[in-house]
Amino acid sequence: MFNVEDVRRDFPILDTEVYPGVPLVYLDSAASSQKPTSVIAAMDDYYIHYHANIHRGVHRLSELATSAYELARQKVARFINAPTTEEVVFVGNATEAFNLVAYSWGRTNIGPGDEILLTEMEHHANIVPWQILAREKGATIRYLPIRDDGTLLVERLDEFLNKRTRLFSFTGVSNVLGTINPVTELVEAAHAVGALAMVDAAQTAPHMSIDVQALNCDFLAFSSHKMCGPTGIGVLYGKRELLEAMPPFLGGGDMIRRVTLEGFTTNDLPWKFEAGTPRIAEAIGLGAAVDYLNHLGIDAVHAHEQTITQYALESLSEVPGLSLLGPPGSLHGGLASFTLGGVHPHDIAEVLDKKGIAIRAGHHCAMPLHQKLGIPASARASFYVHTTFEEVDQLTAALHHTRSVFRLN
Ligand code: PLP
Repeated sequence: MFNVEDVRRDFPILDTEVYPGVPLVYLDSAASSQKPTSVIAAMDDYYIHYHANIHRGVHRLSELATSAYELARQKVARFINAPTTEEVVFVGNATEAFNLVAYSWGRTNIGPGDEILLTEMEHHANIVPWQILAREKGATIRYLPIRDDGTLLVERLDEFLNKRTRLFSFTGVSNVLGTINPVTELVEAAHAVGALAMVDAAQTAPHMSIDVQALNCDFLAFSSHKMCGPTGIGVLYGKRELLEAMPPFLGGGDMIRRVTLEGFTTNDLPWKFEAGTPRIAEAIGLGAAVDYLNHLGIDAVHAHEQTITQYALESLSEVPGLSLLGPPGSLHGGLASFTLGGVHPHDIAEVLDKKGIAIRAGHHCAMPLHQKLGIPASARASFYVHTTFEEVDQLTAALHHTRSVFRLN
């Protein structure tokens, strides 16, 4: 188990005073995590010492940059236990990964009457690309419901999966409820009716180990910026035979083998899906983020978050008028979403901000879920490797203070 005080020294931003004399309490890692020095240094090193375009230069710097970019891919492949680096495509973020699959796989494999199954707890990134596709192709989208406690109604899967279902795309961990879903079971259920399974790992990859071979998922998507890496890069894992059969998403340089005035042939995987100059510095930063999480130990990261989350759920449940969203106990990932009496979450976030506490307020890009819950918005505190019990205490105290500001009885 790592020492949280040591970990905190790895994140220079944690020394920030957000207002004079008010230190930062960063409880918004689920929106985007902070970056350790090693990630920032790896990107600086690239820009200072060996920046050049990759895959096309024969000079020394280009070779160095190409090796670093491809080494980052190897690190990511190992991190998720992908069988080969060909199955690890660098994209802009998780959102782009969904759009890539919806555009490339979806437009060749989805037709009128086909069904795509999602769940009621999805982020817009795992809803809207399928809605665009379904609208264009005359397909139907169905949503596996959730229970009141924020878990999926897995026992009703039979009603929602059938021989028309072509894809079941679902989140590993809900960014609002914190629910940790039974991914292997859901993948198996999709495969049992001949559908593919895509996992939204945006809230999973930063927090717990992923083994795509054990999960047997067909596609899996996540973003670097939520797992200590830079913004601007994400990962699409896809099974090789699927990626090979898919047409390119974006056209241009790098994704081709040969171009003539009449047409083109595509490059090998994974470059077939990486058109144009890629996110070189960002990939190197993501590689360093993977190194950092490996150095802490991803199981230790998960264990720390579980401890902090349990503590937070217990502390927050004692704030009068506060309603927690999502399931209790070990089914709950590293966040706590809640409402507080009739106070608008934006107002809560503003009061907390004056105390240096950064939380997220709003619909968290999950409007259908909030509609289902019958609330317009919620407040969310999210935890990571550097979160301490003291910070949770500060959050709880600030929520008591919020109650008095808004004169809640
Ligand atoms: N899926 C989930 C569960 C998320 O929490 C997020 C980001 O909040 C995304 C997808 C989209 O990630 P990005 O905005 O980095 O593409």
